Amino acid sequence: MEVYKFGGASVSSAKSIQNMAAIVKNAAKDHLLIVISAMGKMTNKLEELSNSYISNDSPAAHQHLDEVKAYHFGILHELFSNPHHPVFNEVSNAFVEIEWLLEEQASDAPDYIYDQIVSIGEIVSTKIVSAYLKEVECEVTWADARNYIQTDNSYREALVDWDRTSAEIQQHLLPLLKKSIVVTQGFIGGTSENFTTTLGREGSDYSAAIFAACLDAKSLTIWKDVPGVLNADPKWFNETERIPQLSYHDAIELTYYGATVIHPKTIKPLQNRNIPLYVRSFLDALSPGTEITALNSPLPVPSFIFKVNQVLISIFPKDFSFIIEENLSGIFNLFHKHKVKVNTMLNSAISFSVSVDHDEKKIQDLIAELSVHYKVKYNTGLELVTIRYYNQDTIDRVTVDKQILLEVKSRHTCQIVMKDLSTIE
Ligand code: ASP
Ligand code: MG
Repeated sequence: MEVYKFGGASVSSAKSIQNMAAIVKNAAKDHLLIVISAMGKMTNKLEELSNSYISNDSPAAHQHLDEVKAYHFGILHELFSNPHHPVFNEVSNAFVEIEWLLEEQASDAPDYIYDQIVSIGEIVSTKIVSAYLKEVECEVTWADARNYIQTDNSYREALVDWDRTSAEIQQHLLPLLKKSIVVTQGFIGGTSENFTTTLGREGSDYSAAIFAACLDAKSLTIWKDVPGVLNADPKWFNETERIPQLSYHDAIELTYYGATVIHPKTIKPLQNRNIPLYVRSFLDALSPGTEITALNSPLPVPSFIFKVNQVLISIFPKDFSFIIEENLSGIFNLFHKHKVKVNTMLNSAISFSVSVDHDEKKIQDLIAELSVHYKVKYNTGLELVTIRYYNQDTIDRVTVDKQILLEVKSRHTCQIVMKDLSTIE
């Protein structure tokens, strides 16, 4: 049993769907589960649609829906020459769910509405891909992930009920996979009352890992538009190298610090079952990519993760009390309450500094509440670089023209919060 995951970029046009079909046809024919995301940037578009609907801007919501439909039907017409092919109806039916919703004023909780709307991206993409695979004589079965990935009702960030999920997959998905290749959705799940949930943005990798773990798959392959896991993001660094082999440990550290190549939650289920993860390029299906396993050796090259738009928040108890012993748990509770994720932190006797992503609203609310008990200072417009397996040379390289505000080092990882001086006039 193998699991393949194809993200939005790999199914963003008729041509890319044809390319992915070729990859699938070359794979072992049976015992393959294919997990697919919404096409191209459709999740963003559906998110806009949901926002317009929630804020009662019905014309904008309809406009977004028209664009979403036009995009999918454009692809359908390129893939299927027969306009009476049943897939046209299936896709129309999926959109009817959104149309019905738009007929009424938004009255349910926004996060619930969001999941009902945004999930349609994955339903539609899998309908199209499975119909196309059948068209090119690749026998597949379409399966609804909401019946297998069982979650609680924390809409937009649902938590997986592993026992129920594993039971559903073993009892009902495994028999399907014994008969043919199965195509299903990433990112979405279902509650015990059969409401649709989503697992958080970019969560399809995580879905694929859940399926792989519950099926005890031989491997999971994530097909991407990059040659594998690189030691830095080409968006920020001129020279990058593919990492041929990576340990689960390094992979989870890199994704935790912000490497976007795979979703951070993907590694744990695979590591727990010792299932190898391959990250490979759908643009060059013959190249080896990256293999992630229980390897013992560390990364062969230093790896860099770069984040912009950071805020450095420094917190001081007003009464000169020690930060760790007397204040830290209260401070962390506030970060948790406002859903602000700490990217790096450092403490002294009576101060605590953290860098976080600059989400305007959340940060203002957090600072307002912190300010009740603490003196709070903050700096915006900063960068955070994390270097795994650093040395002085790599630190010097990334800090040219930067003012360093905070530097935290552990044995293998160095994090530097800095200000870019080259853009200051
Ligand atoms: N389509 C979803 C998103 O864009 C899930 C995913 O792509 O992994 O967030
Ligand atoms: Mg996506």
